[in-house]
Amino acid sequence: MSERERPILKTLARGARLSCPVCGRGSVFRKPFGVRHHCVECGALFQREEGFFVGAIMINVVTTEAAVLASAGLWLLLSGGRDAMLLPVLFAVALLFPAAFYHHSWSLWLAADHLLEKLPRHTPGDRA
Ligand SMILES: [Zn+2]
Repeated sequence: MSERERPILKTLARGARLSCPVCGRGSVFRKPFGVRHHCVECGALFQREEGFFVGAIMINVVTTEAAVLASAGLWLLLSGGRDAMLLPVLFAVALLFPAAFYHHSWSLWLAADHLLEKLPRHTPGDRA
């Protein structure tokens, strides 16, 4: 595969596995909730300019809203329409889902960015 090819499914699968969207070997995270500056295997830059993380936040917010909506529908369906505990359940989903999905939102954002405009390489001398 040439340097310019960026297969969509393969790149998104790497994002879903929390792997580098460019090479698939390096991990996007160095510790829980800690995004690496760049891939240790291929040098793809994960933390680009200020504000780059807004896309990951957007993915997390949209999927959280979908999870809350799906939870509401599922709760009402399974409880036979009784809504006494609906708000506490939705509140819990709204608190826990974004934390649980944090890593995937970052990784999928990096994969989408790589598909759209290719992740730049880290050059020695940049912030490590
Ligand atoms: Zn890599």
